[in-house]
Amino acid sequence: MRFSPGLSAALALFFIKNRLRGCMRSPVVLMLEPTHRCNLSCAGCDRIRLDSKARLPDLTLMECLEAAIESKAPVVTITGGEPLLYRDLKELVSGLLDLKRYIYLCTNGLIAGSFVDDYLPHPRLTLSFHVDGMEETHDRLTGRPGSFKKVIEGIKGATKHGFRVWTNTSLYKWTDEAELVELFSLLKKLGVEGLLVSPAFGYASVLDDIFLRKEEVALKFGRLRRRLRGFPLTGTPIYFDFLEGKGNMACVPWGSPTRNPLGWKSPCYLITDRYYGSFSELMEKTPWEAYGPGRDGRCRDCMVHSGFEPAAMEKCFSNPGEMAKMMWWNMSGGR
Ligand code: SF4
Repeated sequence: MRFSPGLSAALALFFIKNRLRGCMRSPVVLMLEPTHRCNLSCAGCDRIRLDSKARLPDLTLMECLEAAIESKAPVVTITGGEPLLYRDLKELVSGLLDLKRYIYLCTNGLIAGSFVDDYLPHPRLTLSFHVDGMEETHDRLTGRPGSFKKVIEGIKGATKHGFRVWTNTSLYKWTDEAELVELFSLLKKLGVEGLLVSPAFGYASVLDDIFLRKEEVALKFGRLRRRLRGFPLTGTPIYFDFLEGKGNMACVPWGSPTRNPLGWKSPCYLITDRYYGSFSELMEKTPWEAYGPGRDGRCRDCMVHSGFEPAAMEKCFSNPGEMAKMMWWNMSGGR
């Protein structure tokens, strides 16, 4: 099963409650970046570029928990930077579990042992390892020889300790589809339960020509989706159709707001026009109507899951036909 029954039920309840209350803009996933420090220097990452410009102090544990309480998002993705470098990570995970949140803890896997060796698995906690290709590709993208071996070691350690493990893979211009099939076959054998594939984010601060344009995503993802039948890809079928270029979807940047050491990032995970000091300011002062494809030139090629997947989920949970499709898709797992 791609999504646990608990998470599916929590999301269904979340969308039904919001509809009944008439809440138009409620975040589904909080993107929480307690630190921008990292032990790698990956090709497509803008957070390390931010961190090297302004060495900001990490968020405090209290700031992180307050962000979860304020946003009320049922899911929290802890990302960064490398979250495993965050001093109070275990306390943060425990605090979020106490708040009944579903947690996706992202990591590059280099120091996975520091977490999995002395933290207990929990049904609402998933570890998500970033892997961008087989050894040569992954090591080149991370800028660190040996990082592929480390991430594989980390995945093995996590599954051995009983953690639910997902991986997260970015599609770049140069991504080789046959290589991804080889990679996902290996990850499936290692017990990875969910494979998240999404187009790499085109950050303005990353000048290299490595990001796919919308039309290129549709071609590449379409081919890949056909080759990956039988693999536990994660995401909604509606979002996957969108990636394949079948139909349009509105972006809902408030669906996955980002809180990091600079504040609440506006408007979205990908582009930054300003930061706000509080969640309520972010929601009230961001001119949401000004963003999205066709409204802001920077959004032209964006298909990022944090902007569009919440819209896909809302569509799915508000339509019985789509919900049935989603349930079948979820239960079919890797078949
Ligand atoms: S389309 Fe993408 S870049 Fe534009 S606001 Fe939405 S998520 Fe951000």
